[in-house]
Amino acid sequence: MDVHGIGMTSRRTRDRLIQRLREEGIHDERVLDAIRRVPRHVFVDEALASRAYEDTALPIGHGQTISQPYIVARMTQALIAGGRPKKVLEVGTGSGYQTAVLACLVDEIYSVERLEPLMKFARKRLREIGCRNVHIKLSDGSWGWKEHAPYDGIIVTAAAAELPPSLVEQLAPGGRLVIPVGGPAMQELLLVQQTDKGLIQERIELVNFVPLVRDLF
Ligand code: SAH
Repeated sequence: MDVHGIGMTSRRTRDRLIQRLREEGIHDERVLDAIRRVPRHVFVDEALASRAYEDTALPIGHGQTISQPYIVARMTQALIAGGRPKKVLEVGTGSGYQTAVLACLVDEIYSVERLEPLMKFARKRLREIGCRNVHIKLSDGSWGWKEHAPYDGIIVTAAAAELPPSLVEQLAPGGRLVIPVGGPAMQELLLVQQTDKGLIQERIELVNFVPLVRDLF
């Protein structure tokens, strides 16, 4: 599991992060355990590895960031609150860190990234740490990944101006979609559930994500 360095993987450093997440209201032990197990330092540049277990977002190049552990935990907790999802779609692979956390908690994860260097880096790192239930492709994820739909869970880790209709369509009955929706400076993190009474929307909290960019793939 230890790709570069040993110091920052110390048990104590990781335990401190878990303690902080608990204090911030993360109570799902499955989520806390996954975060304890996934080595976040392998998903950032070596120069930043010593800061990998701080509860903060960090740059990953190409103007993108690896999400803050608290946000990863909060989104994951909302996604799996209804039980273990079998099939999950992630939009915005980025570093692959959120993907790795989810890989511990779901059967199969399909992840879409629009920037090739990030997609390749994530794929390599996920393979190196032994995540075998992850499938990644290069595309505009606002269209989802139709071939594998429907999904029990969909998680979007970039800010959408509005709810992308294709993602809602690819949600299975009972499925949960966690997505930041709003303007460039701040968004509302939403939990959207596909129920037998139709779509139910719930606000989780205010967040700040990089934008979901529309491409012509
Ligand atoms: N969960 C990631 C967050 C990465 S930041 C992590 O923790 O590392 C958001 C990512 O979404 C960026 O990598 C960005 O390139 C990607 N992205 C933005 N718009 C996208 C789109 N339309 N389709 C797929 N990926 C997109």
